[in-house]
Amino acid sequence: MSRLSTAELQRLDAAHYLHPFTDSRQLAAKGARVITQAEGVWLTDSDGHRILDGMAGLWCVALGYGRRELAEAAYRQMLELPYYNSFFQCAHPPAIELAQRLTEVTPPQFRHVFFTGSGSEANDTMVRLVRRYWQLREEPGRNVIVGRWNGYHGSTVAGASLGGMKPMHEQGGLPIPGIVHVNQPYWFENGGELSPAEFGLRAARELADRIEEIGPRRIAAFIGEPVQGAGGVIIPPDTYWPEIQRICDHYGILLVSDEVICGFGRTGQWFGCEHFGTRPDLMPIAKAMSSGYLPIGGLMVADRVADVLIDKGGEFTHGFTYSGHPAACAVSVACIDILRREKIVERVRDELAGYFAARWRTLAAHPLVGEVRTLGLLGALELVPAKPDRRFFANRGDVGTVCRDLCVANGVISRAVRDTMIVAPPLVITPAEIDELVARVGRALDLTAHHIAKEQWH
Ligand SMILES: *Cc1c(COP(=O)(O)O)cnc(C)c1O
Repeated sequence: MSRLSTAELQRLDAAHYLHPFTDSRQLAAKGARVITQAEGVWLTDSDGHRILDGMAGLWCVALGYGRRELAEAAYRQMLELPYYNSFFQCAHPPAIELAQRLTEVTPPQFRHVFFTGSGSEANDTMVRLVRRYWQLREEPGRNVIVGRWNGYHGSTVAGASLGGMKPMHEQGGLPIPGIVHVNQPYWFENGGELSPAEFGLRAARELADRIEEIGPRRIAAFIGEPVQGAGGVIIPPDTYWPEIQRICDHYGILLVSDEVICGFGRTGQWFGCEHFGTRPDLMPIAKAMSSGYLPIGGLMVADRVADVLIDKGGEFTHGFTYSGHPAACAVSVACIDILRREKIVERVRDELAGYFAARWRTLAAHPLVGEVRTLGLLGALELVPAKPDRRFFANRGDVGTVCRDLCVANGVISRAVRDTMIVAPPLVITPAEIDELVARVGRALDLTAHHIAKEQWH
């Protein structure tokens, strides 16, 4: 426990610490919420409040907090070999074991992995590896990668370029050349009069239109998250991904499934692509890969790509000091072993997903809730001024921010994306804790409705 008081921690924080995705002036005025401890799905802040972590940290703490086995794996590895690199024809046991484990749990086309320190680095690696692949195939003109507006692929220059977050593009002159975007499959906002199934097909076919417009021989790859996470838990209509797969096959372009959130059981399958039935050529992974206990990511590379890289020879001039960090790899091995031994993915699929969906759907009755979405242990609520119109509040984002703060005040973390409330709790959450999560979000919705009435927002 820190010996510093909350006020002192907040003062030092405001004085010295630049936070990610934060308005530092606003934070300094308000003071950071300081989390000091956690156990299971419960966080404790510096004032001793217990908060149910409905977001598993940042989507990563799949196994919950306080797993001794993960801490011990790191401790043992740090004493045995805290660091060595895998450049210059070196390797170490934890990275080798993790590579092998990953090929057991990922779809069968994957037999190789490139390790990184994060999901963003995995996506940077993807950009360079995809372009190298097409160079080796003697089609260097194929260098354009298609992403989606409101997709999220990380915060590095390449990651933010692949993503379609306009406020990120505005800071730093992004996207970099060779990355273009198509619209997202967000029926609630963009579906108009179309049924979700019709809209899913139409959204997917924008990829084909864009490919034709740019020239099919210039397109290297398409990247998407199976379910957009940071964009607002946008679950595409069932028609979307099969059509994307068909288009990628038709034009012979690589399909990249960014599994940084959906991977390792979040959707009730090991990987999100397995839920939607796609066969990706590349899969960036991170987050739940180590349950967030240590930073690690990777790029799964399918045989179609790996065989070319390996058979043609030549050095891939890319890598990070912490690619395959021994302690992070040891934790990831332990994490995968727990997921398998405790059958956590199967439990999400067969028990928790259905229970969570039924409980979360009860919130649809609330006057503020215009749509409820769930898949596996992902949930979203669209907050709207009037049902059943699919229309948003005039000042988009204000209601979400109020609701998020009221969630925390009511002892639950739920994130606001504009006016969409989202949750992604640890995969080890119990049915009783799901009840508690839904009850607390429900109370926050009631208080949000009062606030809206008082402020006369519409
Ligand atoms: C979080 C995230 C990333 C970036 O991962 P970092 O570890 O934060 O760099 C990439 N893709 C998706 C889908 C993510 O959710």
